[in-house]
Amino acid sequence: MSKYKERIALGLCGMCGKDKENNNKNNCNSCLKKAAKSAKKRQARLCSEGLCIYCGRTKTNPGKSCLTCQQTKKKNRIKKDPTKETLKKTSTRWLGTQSRWRELEELFNQQNETCKYSGLPITIRDTAQIDHKVPRSCQGTSEISNLQWVHCLINRMKSNMPEDVFVYLCKMVAKNTPDMQTPII
Ligand SMILES: [Zn+2]
Ligand SMILES: [Zn+2]
Repeated sequence: MSKYKERIALGLCGMCGKDKENNNKNNCNSCLKKAAKSAKKRQARLCSEGLCIYCGRTKTNPGKSCLTCQQTKKKNRIKKDPTKETLKKTSTRWLGTQSRWRELEELFNQQNETCKYSGLPITIRDTAQIDHKVPRSCQGTSEISNLQWVHCLINRMKSNMPEDVFVYLCKMVAKNTPDMQTPII
């Protein structure tokens, strides 16, 4: 086993061997930043030399990358499932790594694709948003157990309110407001 893999197996950053302190599978935040920076630098250098920014080979076509790399990129883009991509982004945002997207998908399925509070149907690339049961402003964590899927309008209403306050206020509004024609959301 390589040193890199050995470190990862121990739960350490593969590059520097330090404690990762994030949920990324392989690297600590500082190493990830360094890697991104050097990748950018390499691309800028290749670009200024007129070479393909991905494979570094000479290219005859205009644009930053060679035709082979462009084709590979295009193929990958078609292969990519947009819902999965959105889940990966959501996972990166709240769980610190894109690799935990399946947990978010599972949560979504457990909720039967409906908003946890209103029961409204929600869709991942459209109306579904992640809400923190205990808001972050009240020391709520981004552990999966503190997350739930809600309708974006409900999320906006709840804002950073604790769950009990939000539910109480909804009930008060419903109680004190005469019935209105139901809008279509
Ligand atoms: Zn590191
Ligand atoms: Zn290339």
